[in-house]
Amino acid sequence: MGHVIFKCPQTGLNVQHWLDEAEPDNPSSAYETVVCQACNRLHFINRLSGKLLGQQEE
Ligand SMILES: [Zn+2]
Repeated sequence: MGHVIFKCPQTGLNVQHWLDEAEPDNPSSAYETVVCQACNRLHFINRLSGKLLGQQEE
Protein backbone atom coordinates (compact mmCIF):
# COMPACT_ATOMS: atom_id res chain seq x y z
CA MET A 1 0.00 0.00 0.00
CA GLY A 2 0.98 3.63 -0.18
CA HIS A 3 -0.30 6.87 -1.50
CA VAL A 4 -3.34 6.93 -3.66
CA ILE A 5 -4.67 9.97 -5.45
CA PHE A 6 -8.36 10.26 -6.07
CA LYS A 7 -10.58 13.00 -7.40
CA CYS A 8 -12.95 14.32 -4.81
CA PRO A 9 -16.47 14.20 -6.25
CA GLN A 10 -17.55 17.10 -4.05
CA THR A 11 -14.86 19.59 -4.94
CA GLY A 12 -13.29 18.15 -8.08
CA LEU A 13 -9.87 18.41 -6.45
CA ASN A 14 -7.26 15.70 -6.59
CA VAL A 15 -6.68 14.44 -3.08
CA GLN A 16 -3.71 12.41 -1.93
CA HIS A 17 -4.37 9.84 0.74
CA TRP A 18 -2.14 7.37 2.51
CA LEU A 19 -3.45 3.83 2.81
CA ASP A 20 -1.94 1.78 5.58
CA GLU A 21 -1.08 -1.86 5.18
CA ALA A 22 -3.70 -3.18 7.51
CA GLU A 23 -5.97 -5.83 6.18
CA PRO A 24 -9.51 -4.64 5.54
CA ASP A 25 -12.00 -5.59 8.21
CA ASN A 26 -14.10 -7.26 5.60
CA PRO A 27 -11.96 -9.33 3.25
CA SER A 28 -14.74 -9.43 0.70
CA SER A 29 -14.59 -5.68 0.35
CA ALA A 30 -11.63 -3.89 -1.12
CA TYR A 31 -13.06 -0.52 -0.21
CA GLU A 32 -11.48 1.70 2.41
CA THR A 33 -13.34 4.51 4.14
CA VAL A 34 -11.30 7.69 4.11
CA VAL A 35 -11.91 11.20 5.36
CA CYS A 36 -11.40 13.49 2.41
CA GLN A 37 -8.96 16.33 3.06
CA ALA A 38 -10.71 18.49 0.49
CA CYS A 39 -14.31 18.30 1.70
CA ASN A 40 -14.01 16.52 5.07
CA ARG A 41 -16.57 13.99 3.98
CA LEU A 42 -16.20 10.25 3.86
CA HIS A 43 -15.37 8.58 0.59
CA PHE A 44 -14.91 4.94 -0.24
CA ILE A 45 -11.74 4.08 -2.09
CA ASN A 46 -10.93 0.77 -3.67
CA ARG A 47 -7.67 -0.32 -2.08
CA LEU A 48 -6.70 -2.27 -5.15
CA SER A 49 -7.41 0.25 -7.88
CA GLY A 50 -7.39 3.53 -5.95
CA LYS A 51 -10.70 4.46 -7.52
CA LEU A 52 -13.64 5.90 -5.69
CA LEU A 53 -16.70 3.79 -5.19
CA GLY A 54 -19.02 4.62 -8.06
CA GLN A 55 -16.39 6.60 -9.93
CA GLN A 56 -17.06 6.74 -13.61
CA GLU A 57 -14.47 5.60 -16.06
CA GLU A 58 -13.23 8.49 -18.14
ZN1 LIG B 1 -14.06 14.85 -0.91
